[in-house]
Amino acid sequence: MVKTPLLWDTHCHLQDKHFRDDLEETIERAKEMGVIGVIIPGWDYESSVSAIEISRRYENIYAAVGFHPHDSKNYDEEKLLSILDHEKIVAIGEIGLDFYRNLSPVETQKTVFRRQLRIAEERGLPVIIHTREALEQTVEIVKGFNVKGVFHAFTGSEEDAKEILELGFYVGIGGVLTFKNARLPEVVKSIPLDRILLETDAPYITPHPHRGKRNEPAYLVYVFNKLCDVLGLPHAELGKILIKNTLEVFRIETEGTH
Ligand SMILES: [Zn+2]
Repeated sequence: MVKTPLLWDTHCHLQDKHFRDDLEETIERAKEMGVIGVIIPGWDYESSVSAIEISRRYENIYAAVGFHPHDSKNYDEEKLLSILDHEKIVAIGEIGLDFYRNLSPVETQKTVFRRQLRIAEERGLPVIIHTREALEQTVEIVKGFNVKGVFHAFTGSEEDAKEILELGFYVGIGGVLTFKNARLPEVVKSIPLDRILLETDAPYITPHPHRGKRNEPAYLVYVFNKLCDVLGLPHAELGKILIKNTLEVFRIETEGTH
């Protein structure tokens, strides 16, 4: 196994039921692979609460809270505001638009997205954005707010990346980078190094060579190794840049990283 520098998984659903039986071991395995920090985004009220609960128990684990576009039909702003003051919350997320599955009505998705962007703006928090088949509409809405953050699980074209970069946002790169025939390796070369974040989106989007199995934060190293290959950069150098990006966007101060 290639030795890796310290990494942060900026998008990992450790509160998901797939980790219920082995959360401790999952976090241990991640640490052994050099993944020392994790951000856990919520997708509704309950998952946001459990993200906070897990983050309280570990030094370099932080939470994001919010309603995913799929769950925007259940949006409850009062409940969201009631949990927002916890010190381990570093972002509002994941929020956005998903016109691929349309599990909530389009207009509801847009309204709930705007309301959460407003909260992020008021609180000065970054946002973690999920967008699928909806990039134009997502960018249009984000433009109306004074917020920064990341478009997570990016798989788009060079033009798509450009739109995100012009907004001043970071681009979240995950397991798709390792897939055969993916166009992402070419596209990622067009993204400035200081705008890239690494993520697993575990338990989803498992990287090669574990595709088909549950994803977990330890597998971030496969994404990282591939990114080093694609960009032709030494592990130590890229690792340092990625940590800097992560701590900057989420405004995390930690002694576990230098
Ligand atoms: Zn996610």
